[in-house]
Amino acid sequence: MNWPGAVEDLTGVGPKTAEILRKYGIKTVKDMLYNLPRDYENYAAPTSISEMRPGKVVIRGKIENLSTRRAKRRNLSITEGVIRDKTGAVKVVWFNQSYRLKQFLPEKEYFFTGNFEFKNGRYSLISPSAAEVADIDPHAGLSPIYVAHGALKSADFRRIMAKSRDKFSGVPDLLPSVRSGTRREALFQTHFPSSAKSAERARKYLAYEELFELILAAKLNKRENQKLKSAEIPFNLTKIKEFLGKLPFELTGAQKKAAWEIFQDMEKPKPMNRLLQGDVGSGKTMVAAMSAYEAVIGRQQVALLAPTAILAAQHYEGLTKLLEPLGVRVTLLIGATKKKVELKKQIRDGEWDLVIGTHALLTDDTEFAELGLVVIDEQHRFGVEQRQKLMLKSPDGKAPHLLAMTATPIPRSLQLTVFGDLDVSVLNQMPKGRQPIKTQILREIELRERLYPKIADTVAAGNQVYWICKAIDDDPRAETTSVKSRHAKLQKMFPNLKIEFLHGRMKPAEKDEIMGRFARGEIEILVSTTVVEVGVDVPNATLMIIENAESYGLAQLHQLRGRVGRGSVASECFLLTSGEMRPSRRLLELEKSCDGFHLAEVDLRLRGPGEIYGALQHGALDLRIATFSDTELIHRAQRDVADFLKDPENMLKYKELMAGINRYQQITTLN
Ligand code: ADP
Ligand code: MG
Repeated sequence: MNWPGAVEDLTGVGPKTAEILRKYGIKTVKDMLYNLPRDYENYAAPTSISEMRPGKVVIRGKIENLSTRRAKRRNLSITEGVIRDKTGAVKVVWFNQSYRLKQFLPEKEYFFTGNFEFKNGRYSLISPSAAEVADIDPHAGLSPIYVAHGALKSADFRRIMAKSRDKFSGVPDLLPSVRSGTRREALFQTHFPSSAKSAERARKYLAYEELFELILAAKLNKRENQKLKSAEIPFNLTKIKEFLGKLPFELTGAQKKAAWEIFQDMEKPKPMNRLLQGDVGSGKTMVAAMSAYEAVIGRQQVALLAPTAILAAQHYEGLTKLLEPLGVRVTLLIGATKKKVELKKQIRDGEWDLVIGTHALLTDDTEFAELGLVVIDEQHRFGVEQRQKLMLKSPDGKAPHLLAMTATPIPRSLQLTVFGDLDVSVLNQMPKGRQPIKTQILREIELRERLYPKIADTVAAGNQVYWICKAIDDDPRAETTSVKSRHAKLQKMFPNLKIEFLHGRMKPAEKDEIMGRFARGEIEILVSTTVVEVGVDVPNATLMIIENAESYGLAQLHQLRGRVGRGSVASECFLLTSGEMRPSRRLLELEKSCDGFHLAEVDLRLRGPGEIYGALQHGALDLRIATFSDTELIHRAQRDVADFLKDPENMLKYKELMAGINRYQQITTLN
């Protein structure tokens, strides 16, 4: 097999097929071999129809009487038919898959895999997948299922792979032989497994390869980063003591420790690359403020990047109050800022010490005289390129120290792999006097009886309410109540209360105005979409209602809930669900726990990292083979990468490996 060759080199791949494959990123023979089956089907021993039991089944038979009809209920098409084998017949149903009508020929035999269940008064086979018997390799016990790529269906991939079955010989190993087995055997076994066990063993081999690459990329990033030069910012005990003396509270132990770790990093001539993780309300901003102060005393400028204008403005207000009396010159640079050109000139001339801003900070014409520290709040909100942009803003060739903050805790397994080049500080302790947020799942029909009195009480006690809705406008098809109609309903219910709404389509100035009034206590109920999600701090708000709670992820719900519980008054959160169904595991977990780290682990188990971080990190965390619960493999790969790096020769020797890790390089680095 011509392993690095173009995909056309494979028997059975003509120019047309190659074109489709290329569109899906399969360009070489190697890509094709790494296009792994998403699952396997065991067609070796199908169940006879007369023997079927409820649950997942594989049957073999012919199909007849296919027809499609529209259901009375909105937008549903139902395709039905009868599958027959020698022992009997069973009804088959597909929903919204009318193409099934044309898929089958009555004289041909197919395997059907699906759930045999009781529905609409009878047992049927529900939405099975189908494969033509003639397409299934008769030797194989397990038959691979491939993801369809455009016109190329699973069966086409099976056919192409079958033609290469005897040609896996040219496949070289990727890694030093730190694991038993060869890549050739592993790839072969994933496409043509001799048993479920060997398929799993092969997957592990390839998963290990992938983790090795990822960890190696992270480690090399760290190395590169360590070669850069940064300003050495000396620790100034007197000044920091003075700063702490002005605070109305004492730092938590965790805050002290984190600050100390940051100070030590910044003293070094190499750039700090540190992630500060802490649950909402754990006091990350205070740690950032101390770090910024320290840098300014060390005659450096500081940039603080926030994901939204609301948040930037809030940081600006808070930090001005805190730092200006100490002589720090603080300014705000957001989209709505007036006289930008002038402000940017002043920043370039070093007339501002701390510049707080949004993406507006990232334009090419924002330059600093002496940028020593960059703080990124809610770092996962920014793309890699955006973060990199800020890193380039130091004109003297020095790299600024970087402090990235996140309230989305990163599970340990991710820390070891994807974020392996970061040092991590954790705020695992809440400021004194904080009480856990009492959380309850509530069905929408109980709203009047249970929630309205609660709202009235909360407002009467001088506190404020958040009400989160899914959509901005009404959509007649969706079962959600929009911000606007919820606002109208509440206003009707509570005509004397000050109720406003907030959403992402409003102008930034409008949003800021509303948020400002809410922060000052001039609005009693704020009906909003998730734009209030990040970082906003209104300690007087003590009641959070999240409508359509089922439609959010665990991490996001936890973040939203964290908008309350920021003062000393006990706060409550209600998760509204519309359906009759049992609440999901997510909501139940949320009801039980306020611990973001615990919830992150649960979330990782329930959804996988791609879902949690994927979209945010541009899909970069979508491991193709490994999963982040392969803990044992992760630890082994860690040890082996460390060994690998001990011998500099290795980097020259393993060319394919070194070329391949480029795809990760971008992801893991913050610099
Ligand atoms: P985070 O950014 O981690 O969500 P913040 O830094 O916004 O949290 O802090 C939340 C609130 O707690 C702020 O009002 C802040 O002033 C306050 N705070 C921070 N540290 C302490 C502390 N050690 N003791 C009491 N209150 C604190
Ligand atoms: Mg914050």
